[in-house]
Amino acid sequence: MPYVLMLMLSSLLSLATSARAAAPGSAQVPPPRERTLPYRLVSARPADAVVLFDGKDLVNWRQPNGRPAAWQVKDGQMTITRGNIISKETFGDALIHVEFRIPYEPQAHGQERANSGVYLQGRYEIQLLDSYGIKIPGKGDCGAVYGQYAALVNACKPPLEWQSYDAIFRAARVDESGKVTEPARITVLQNGTVIHNNVELLGPTAGAMDSDVGKPGPLLLQDHGSPLQFRNIWLVHLPLKGSDAY
Ligand code: MG
Repeated sequence: MPYVLMLMLSSLLSLATSARAAAPGSAQVPPPRERTLPYRLVSARPADAVVLFDGKDLVNWRQPNGRPAAWQVKDGQMTITRGNIISKETFGDALIHVEFRIPYEPQAHGQERANSGVYLQGRYEIQLLDSYGIKIPGKGDCGAVYGQYAALVNACKPPLEWQSYDAIFRAARVDESGKVTEPARITVLQNGTVIHNNVELLGPTAGAMDSDVGKPGPLLLQDHGSPLQFRNIWLVHLPLKGSDAY
């Protein structure tokens, strides 16, 4: 069941329970703690977000070789034209929001059908592909951590509709020698539905910029030959840990 729907249902149940508990003459069971209704997944850009793309230009992006990013920007969107691009901003632990639109390419099949990708730290690809309607998405389908984890459910919208990824990324931890002590982890929501639940990444995916997982890295958008579009891309840097205060 989609995450948001589940939250709404549980909220309704909670409301019903509260109403029963408040009825006159009923047993004095404390009602459940009040909750704000309805639950909503907030994808609005927070005030402290680092804006990577707001529809105007590619000033916050470049090509991996250092040259200026050359994708087309028009009507508030960027369209893949030639080569991968990376954000100038790099990050460790972060909340990342990306909106994308997949073209309709009925003549193409499998990995050739509207392929792109969002690489966290330039190393871990969340696949972009036209996987709409596939009952059991695989490790190469849209939403997959490419080659490692298939999406838990197929949350894809049809091509030409705007979609979103919200990823909560925990970077790998390494010791002084660079040895990984804790692999990177991610939780991903596609269009508000949980498609990865805090999975431990097995290392950089195919096509990664490098394998220096202890270092911050950029957001990389992949050119795989299809004209996908992007808009509204931002991230929030997360603290590495909370305080020790009780
Ligand atoms: Mg790809």
